[in-house]
Amino acid sequence: MVRVPQQLFDAYLFDLDGTIYLGDQVLPGATRLIAALRHYGRPVRFLSNNPTRDPAQYAAKLAGLGISVRPDEIVNTVVTTVSWLKAQHPDAVVFPIAEAPLIRALTEAGIRISDRPEEIDIVIASYDRGFDYRKLQIAFDAIWFHRRAFLVQTNPDRFCPYPGGRGQPDAAAITAAIEASTQTTCRHSFGKPDPLMMETVLATLPPLSPHQVVMVGDRVHTDLQLAKSTGVCSAVVLTGEATAGEVDALSPTSAPDFVLDRIDRLIPPGLWGEFGWSAC
Ligand SMILES: [Mg+2]
Repeated sequence: MVRVPQQLFDAYLFDLDGTIYLGDQVLPGATRLIAALRHYGRPVRFLSNNPTRDPAQYAAKLAGLGISVRPDEIVNTVVTTVSWLKAQHPDAVVFPIAEAPLIRALTEAGIRISDRPEEIDIVIASYDRGFDYRKLQIAFDAIWFHRRAFLVQTNPDRFCPYPGGRGQPDAAAITAAIEASTQTTCRHSFGKPDPLMMETVLATLPPLSPHQVVMVGDRVHTDLQLAKSTGVCSAVVLTGEATAGEVDALSPTSAPDFVLDRIDRLIPPGLWGEFGWSAC
């Protein structure tokens, strides 16, 4: 059942895949929605758990889809991971099991990187399509043999969805391999639904109370849960993973404030005429 907002919010937070685009296709209404929010001067931010691109690469992808976004409007797990390390462990030596964008961001932030187990303080499990036995052995030696490092992960996703119902194993698979071999537990996760993601993105906005902000996404267990756990308003859009049946089955306390069949329904119906939009 579709439930749409009747007023504009002061800031809008969006998931990307399944919400703004699906694979390489922009979703219906996304382009004109972002243009309308810019027209009203409402800040927008984009959140992604995927650490295989950095914000500049996301901005380039969105530009290719016709949506103009600044890199500083994008917060993904490259940003949250580096931000947490700088705040909590600026002097730590880390071993990132990660692709180039995260390694580049860590280096630019002055975080020391090593693959020598005897000097590693923190192993970062990530979505790394270059994961191999050597990397697992280094993590194992740093955590289990030297009893020195602890384990964190960029994001908790089991797999990254791909068009056509396919997917790729994600950071949870690499985390699980390290946990299984070392019998340790991952200590921190920097993606949705961890509140760190919300803290990082809200820090980029003017001070707002949670009810002035809406988080919009297509996944119940990441996007909606992040909104619920941090008290911001929530909208689930039915263009990605979540189905109408799944959302309808949620209890009243875990249900989203809004359910949208297309993302531009975030613009209250009373304002559609201003843009010459008609109901569709
Ligand atoms: Mg999504």
